[in-house]
Amino acid sequence: MSACIFCRIVSKATPADVVYEDENVLAFHDIHPKYPVHVLIIPKAHLPFVPEADVSQDALLGKLLRIGAQIAAEKGITKTGFRLLTNAGPHSGQIVHHLHIHLIGGEPLRPL
Ligand code: AMP
Ligand code: ZN
Repeated sequence: MSACIFCRIVSKATPADVVYEDENVLAFHDIHPKYPVHVLIIPKAHLPFVPEADVSQDALLGKLLRIGAQIAAEKGITKTGFRLLTNAGPHSGQIVHHLHIHLIGGEPLRPL
């Protein structure tokens, strides 16, 4: 079994509250939501973080953003606004080393 928690969610070895799935992308609710809407969008294939992506993954990375916007629309927060972000490395606070885009919103977000 994979040591990676998000790979285990992809393989259904670990349950998750899935909101979107297709052949190469999965999205599910964050287990400890910090915002009224807090969804994680991931590539199904293991990729630790953005710095390890290569040119062959450009379309996939773009798709993660598009799916994030689609889920935001389904959650009804397109007009109020939302943020899509990905952490990379220690200073970012990244704790899960399988690339994921956080979709956060549902309340005013602190400016960056
Ligand atoms: P980070 O690596 O800091 O960008 O964030 C990882 C996120 O994954 C955190 O917000 C966690 O709450 C979330 N998380 C960790 N384990 C799970 C899980 N089993 N299911 C859903 N979300 C998770
Ligand atoms: Zn993984």
